[in-house]
Amino acid sequence: MKRYELVVVGAGPAGTAAAIAAARSGCNVLLIEKHGYCGGMATAGMVNPFLGNYYRNPETGKDGSLIGGLCGEILARLTGRDAVLRFRYSNDEDSPFSDAFDDAWLRMLYDEILAQAGVQVLYHSQLVEARCAGGHVESVRVVTKGGIREIAAQSFIDSTGDADLADACGAGCDVGRDEDGLCQPCSTMFRIGGVDTREFLRHGLRAGRKQVNDLLREDREEGNIEFPYKDTVGIYPFPRPGVLHFNATRMCGAPALTGERVSELETEGRRQVRALCEWLIGNVPCFGSAFLDSIAPQVGVRETRRVRGRCRLSREEILDGARFEDGIARSAYFIDVHDPKGAGSVHAKPEDPRVLRDGFKPKRYYEIPFRSLQPEGMDNLLVACRAISTDHYAHAATRVMATMTAVGEAAGTAAGLGKERNVPVGAINGRDVRERIAYLDLPLFF
Ligand SMILES: Cc1cc2nc3c(=O)[nH]c(=O)nc-3n(C[C@H](O)[C@H](O)[C@H](O)COP(=O)(O)OP(=O)(O)OC[C@H]3O[C@@H](n4cnc5c(N)ncnc54)[C@H](O)[C@@H]3O)c2cc1C
Repeated sequence: MKRYELVVVGAGPAGTAAAIAAARSGCNVLLIEKHGYCGGMATAGMVNPFLGNYYRNPETGKDGSLIGGLCGEILARLTGRDAVLRFRYSNDEDSPFSDAFDDAWLRMLYDEILAQAGVQVLYHSQLVEARCAGGHVESVRVVTKGGIREIAAQSFIDSTGDADLADACGAGCDVGRDEDGLCQPCSTMFRIGGVDTREFLRHGLRAGRKQVNDLLREDREEGNIEFPYKDTVGIYPFPRPGVLHFNATRMCGAPALTGERVSELETEGRRQVRALCEWLIGNVPCFGSAFLDSIAPQVGVRETRRVRGRCRLSREEILDGARFEDGIARSAYFIDVHDPKGAGSVHAKPEDPRVLRDGFKPKRYYEIPFRSLQPEGMDNLLVACRAISTDHYAHAATRVMATMTAVGEAAGTAAGLGKERNVPVGAINGRDVRERIAYLDLPLFF
């Protein structure tokens, strides 16, 4: 049986960053991924734009990127290929910005960086079980194109998004809200091409979206379209001419944790995409010559399991802008909760969905403690993905892709420290990891 210093399972934004950071620190790394490319929700789920790094510095009033490291490197390298479009939500200079990115280029960039770092990648391979005793993971069993393989390592990182590996090891996990176990809904992303985007964006993104949503409301009321799933259609610019990105479908109900449920979600997601596309193309100015450009290869899953770690990051800590001695990632992203039971957003004021209710906006940026990546009772496993140890509300803030890139980078950095000291990753102190992440202790430069 082949033995690695580190096995990372799941190559989303977090797992890919973990594998790169560990390999750059000298570890012999295997990255296992069920799709044929990296990126997870950013590529297979076609999720866009990259959120979590935007910050307005309260001291200077200026805005910039809060997350450096690998996240900064990825955005810079994509920008160098004209694969990033930084946009503001309205024509007002004061409006926050986000980075839309071309996920085809992101796939290729990940391949390139992984190869340069010397990570071995096993695509089209899915974790099925783990051999684990006394809180120590010995090996994982993976279904590959060539059959089932057992792979051993000194340390493991679970970056499956769903805490599949932690769960297979018997580590404790929570699912959904404390009160009723409900998770945030799923959505299937899609893009429409051939749009008159100049006209759509003439008065800014907000105005373009409002025009579409006003028309949709009228047509719903008049019975011209049956679309009760989501009350507003999220529309975003995309860095290709004539293309707009849509976050507009919604599937509430049981979490995406069984084969049957995932299949149901895929079918229903595509059914909703079809209904909306037909309506947009047939009824909305700017979409007269439009066509369905692409539909995500896999349904977008916002929330399933969250591991129980040595520290459970709470909603209050997010709101307070908590800082930790072992803070290894930071963000100012708000508590973004799509209603698990309905068509609206839990964070939004009912009279104006663009305005946040009290209790959803952090007062300053917050940090994520390394202990929330360390599952209780496990000595050589980290969970570095949206399934880190948080409550449901803190998860809604930390789950986004720039933040997850930073979390993954920290986990990979910890694996590098483990190799240096010849100890499993669970024995690493988060304060030491923080010291290695240079940008965290620099003053904000904007
Ligand atoms: C509909 C939707 C809209 C969103 N909107 C935004 C947005 O606008 N901006 C933003 O920044 N974030 C957004 N998010 C959140 C963000 O996309 C995810 O939370 C983020 O990608 C999580 O990163 P991750 O690496 O933890 O997990 P994922 O991106 O989920 O990656 C997990 C990886 O593990 C692999 N995997 C899973 N199980 C196994 C297994 N058993 N064996 C092998 N491989 C496995 C998967 O294939 C995947 O590649 C959105 C999410 C959704 C679902």
